[in-house]
Formats: sequence, structure tokens, C-alpha cells
Amino acid sequence: MIDYSDNRYLELFETQKSHYIEIGNTTYKTRIKKLKRLQVALETTYKQDLRDALYKDFKKPQLEVDLTEIYPVVDEIKFISKHLRSWLRPQKVDTPIALLGGTSRIKNESKGVCLIISPWNFPVNLTFGPLVSAIAAGNTVILKPSEMTPHTSNVMSKIVTELFNENEVALIEGEVEVSQELLKLPFNHIFFTGSPQVGKIVMKAASKHLTSVTLELGGKSPVIVDDTTNLDKVVKKIIFGKFLNAGQTCIAPDYVLINDTIKSEFITSFKKHLKNFYTENPSMSHSFGRIVNQKHFERLHGYLEDAKSRNAEIIVGGIVEAIDNYIAPTLVFDISEDSELMQNEIFGPILPVKTYTSIPEMITYVNSKEKPLALYIFSKNKKRINEIINNTRAGSTCINHNLLQFLNHNLPFGGSNNSGIGKSHGYFGFLEFSNQRSILKQHTIGAVDLLTPPYTNVKQKLVDVTIKWF
Ligand code: NAD
Repeated sequence: MIDYSDNRYLELFETQKSHYIEIGNTTYKTRIKKLKRLQVALETTYKQDLRDALYKDFKKPQLEVDLTEIYPVVDEIKFISKHLRSWLRPQKVDTPIALLGGTSRIKNESKGVCLIISPWNFPVNLTFGPLVSAIAAGNTVILKPSEMTPHTSNVMSKIVTELFNENEVALIEGEVEVSQELLKLPFNHIFFTGSPQVGKIVMKAASKHLTSVTLELGGKSPVIVDDTTNLDKVVKKIIFGKFLNAGQTCIAPDYVLINDTIKSEFITSFKKHLKNFYTENPSMSHSFGRIVNQKHFERLHGYLEDAKSRNAEIIVGGIVEAIDNYIAPTLVFDISEDSELMQNEIFGPILPVKTYTSIPEMITYVNSKEKPLALYIFSKNKKRINEIINNTRAGSTCINHNLLQFLNHNLPFGGSNNSGIGKSHGYFGFLEFSNQRSILKQHTIGAVDLLTPPYTNVKQKLVDVTIKWF
């Protein structure tokens, strides 16, 4: 672990700053080479170390590490390697007749020195994913992963130290204070993934230097289920989406809204599939993880106690084991609106379900909350699907499944307002770390050159004609 004292942050920042033009002028081949080195580290050299670290941090099942931490980053590298050459090619655009004699192009140039602050729930994916976009765009980067998954941060630190010179990429481990110190520096871009509360702190700090920001935040993502689906298949998908990573996923279903006619069928199916996935006792299942730490365990335990005190019905689960930060997959009905579970992002394995009687009523309810990061719709009725999409707002939507939208690099990933600002993944992630520089080249004397002072009547006529006809 590199020991960066406060002064060293500034020193490191200055070192990267003195290199950022040079790194920003590297070719697509050089950048892809760097990315491929990272790919090898993730796929082979450090794969087992990362699996072990994530198990130590919060018993993340190995298959989930491979599928949700390693695969998305490796896939992003492959996708970017295929397209980077064309993304870096200056893009010719039309020049209007009024600017006759000129040609125009857009150059995607690097922003410069970037800061990436990441959360603990998918620490590898959400630290190295943005790093891949930042490197592709030609930036230098300082990474600050979460203090809550120290084993994983430690392995990531080893990877970064082995693969990169610190004048282009450095990783700093440590507590929240490290982020606070780093946020004082005049970065050219900050990419933050975390809660809306901390997102506001980051944006405030960035405003001091007019640093651009990408904020990948969270919130309450609803799942809407109508009465036209094959409910048994739907419930199976929702259980997968909700309890993956023990519910600690930014785009996990936060709560479900079902048509009130399907309540009992929903409960029967839920009990059946939950048992099939995690056995009668999920605490013994190797497929179910743990809450990351005591603080979050207590937060979730508090939500459950609050729900019970307000007469919510715990249909399944509700069992907690403090010694292991274990919270059983839990299904809750009859939850009151002012309960903690409905007022906060849950970010854990507790699923409240509410019933609705009409689509407009359900849409009004969804719109009474902040714009979600994801909104899921399970329905076979095309008209209804469109009605829901057109009358709500969300960062992303997946129809007849959940989570999958994250894995398509052709789709921008991100929220809207309270759930985020800016987008990541594929070309959109590359753009986020790039400045679209406009370049207009004047080849001959242009029309504007005829309009310099003194402003005569003839020149006025020329302007009149231009406004009218060009
Ligand atoms: P968090 O906001 O508490 O912390 C995120 C990062 O910010 C951590 O690295 C932490 O060290 C740092 N941080 C915390 N307090 C800070 C402060 N006062 N000043 C500066 N930095 C500070 O979030 P978390 O608990 O790590 O993650 C959970 C949240 O992240 C949830 O809201 C979830 O929805 C969201 N999330 C969003 C995405 C996405 O892609 N949109 C992905 C994962 C998680």
C-alpha cells in the first residue's frame, strides 16, 4: 500500500497534471495495450485473489464475483478495444453556407486528471469499470475505493501498482477523510458512484473548481407487475434480481407494485422459488451473501423492526443474525408509507410489496417519489408498457426482466436527477471522460470577412439576405 499523506495527494496530483497532455496524446493502440494488461490481471493473475478478498469482505459467492465483478469489466475492455479507434477519429461535421470556405470537425480529447470514487457493493466493477473508460479517453486517474471493503481495495491497489506508473494511474486506500482531502484538489473530472447524500457533497466540492462530474447514484427502483404475465417466471426473476449480492445492488428491485388480484399467487410462487434458490435456511446457502458490515446490518435490522412496529406482515424471512451480519431474504406486505422501508433506499435483502388497483393510481405513486435509477415492468400488454414508460421518468428500464440493462454496453447507464447525473458504459462512458472539442478551420476568405466595420448599407443588405436565406 502506498502511503499518501495529505501533501503527497497534492504532489501526486501535480505529477499527473504534468503528464496529462502526453497521456492524452497517446494512440488508441497504446491505450488498448494498457487495458489488455488490466484484462489479464482480472481474468488470470489476480482472479483468485479478488474472489478471496470479496469473500473476506462480505462472503460474496464466487459465481457472483465472476459474473458481476470481473465479467462486466473484461467485457467493457473487449467492447472498447473494438471501437476505440473510430471513437478517437475526429468526426467531420457540416459547415453552414454562411461560413463558406470553412470545414468543421469534433475531436474527442482527454479531460485531464480525473478522480474516481467508488462504493463497496461491487468494488471491482465500479472502480475498474470507470477506470477503463477514463484510460480509453486518455486521462490520468486517481482511484479512491471504499473503506468498507478493505481486502478488495488492497488487491486492487496491488494490481494498479503493478500495471501502471503512478503518473498515470494511482489508487489510494483509506477512510472517508482521504476522499475529503482529494475532493479539495482541482481535478478536471470527478466520477463518483455512491449515495445521493454523498453525491451532493461531491458536487459541492467540485463546484469550487468548476470540475465536471459524473454522479452514479441510487434510490428506490420500483418493479411493476400487472395481471398479464406468467407470474411464476416473473417472481423467479425478481428473486434473482433482488437477492443477488444480498440485495446490495444499486439497480436491485427496491419495492414491488403488483395488481391486487395476484397477491396470493405471488406469495405462493415467491415461497417456492426462494426455497429452490437458497434452501429452507438461506444462512447455510453458499449462494447467498452477507451485509457488508455492522453499520449496514443495524440499519437494515432497524428498518425491519420499524416495519413490524407499524404492523407490516413479514411473509417470509425476517430472521437476523448479528454475529454474521446475516439478514434472511425477506418478503413484506402491508407496509405503511411512512415506514423506514418506504422512505429510504433499502439496499439489502428486504422486499416490500404493495398492491394497486389501477395503472394511473400506480403511476401517480411512482411519480410521488424521486426519479429512480431503474424502473422495471413485467407485462405482456404493449400498450400498458408504453403507458408506464411515457408517464414516468427513470435512469433505465428493463421490460420483463431486471438488472440486465446494466450489461449492454450499447446502452448508457446512469440515473436522472436524484439517481444521478451523466452516463457510463461503452461509448457513453468514453464521452463522459472526454471533452468534445469543436474545431473549425477557415481555408479561404469567408463571408464573415466581408462584414467587418465600417458597417455600410451594402453589408447590412448582405446580413439581411443571410438571415433570410441561409
Ligand atoms: P456512499 O455514498 O456512502 O460512499 C461512496 C463513496 O464515497 C465511498 O468510497 C466513500 O468512502 C465515499 N464517501 C463517503 N462519505 C463521504 C464524504 N462525506 N465525503 C467524501 N467521500 C465520502 O455509498 P456506499 O454506501 O459506498 O454505496 C451505496 C450507495 O451507492 C447506494 O445509494 C447505491 O444505490 C449507490 N450505488 C450506485 C451505483 C450506480 O451505478 N448508480 C452503483 C453502486 C452503488
